Order: sequence, then C-alpha cells, then structure tokens
Amino acid sequence: MTCAYKDCPHPIWRDEHCIFHHEDVAAKKDEFDVAFKRYFDACNEDDEIKKYNFRGFVFPDVSFSHWEFLKHANFSKSQFSGVADFTDSQFSGSAFFNWAVF
Ligand SMILES: [Zn+2]
Repeated sequence: MTCAYKDCPHPIWRDEHCIFHHEDVAAKKDEFDVAFKRYFDACNEDDEIKKYNFRGFVFPDVSFSHWEFLKHANFSKSQFSGVADFTDSQFSGSAFFNWAVF
C-alpha cells in the first residue's frame, strides 16, 4: 500500500500517509530525517530521476544547511511547520516553492 497523497509512491507510515505527507511532525521528526536523506540520496544516485519530488511534503524542523541540491527541486504545496534552514544550501537546478507554506 502506498500513501493516500495524490501520485505519491512512498509506503504508508501511519494513517494512510507516508512519513513525508503525514502531518504529525512531532511524532515523525527523527524518522523523517532518516527517510528524507535516504530519498534524497536515492534521487542523486539514479540518473533516471530528473527531479526531487517534495510536493506536498510536511516538514518538521529541518536543516538543509550546506546541502547540495543537484536536480530540480519541487517543493510546491509543501508545508514547513517549524524551522527550515537553507543556509548555504546550493541549488544546481531550479527550485519551485509555489504554494509552499512557511
Ligand atoms: Zn506520501
């Protein structure tokens, strides 16, 4: 079973949603960090994947300080619930933040 969010390929974490789309930021914080990094690395290693799809993700406090985003990053409709640290992060591709909520 995959997440109930439209076209989301990630497996359910709890309550019909994957770790990325679940809204309980307090409960998922630690696991989110691990899962997000894993997804990020997987995208970087796979040449078939042309962009990071973070569409609609619900972010707990996150730090992308010094991260290098090598591909197009789609953050549309994503929600940043707490701190979102992009200090010195680099975007080699474009980044979409349309409708993102900070
Ligand atoms: Zn999902």
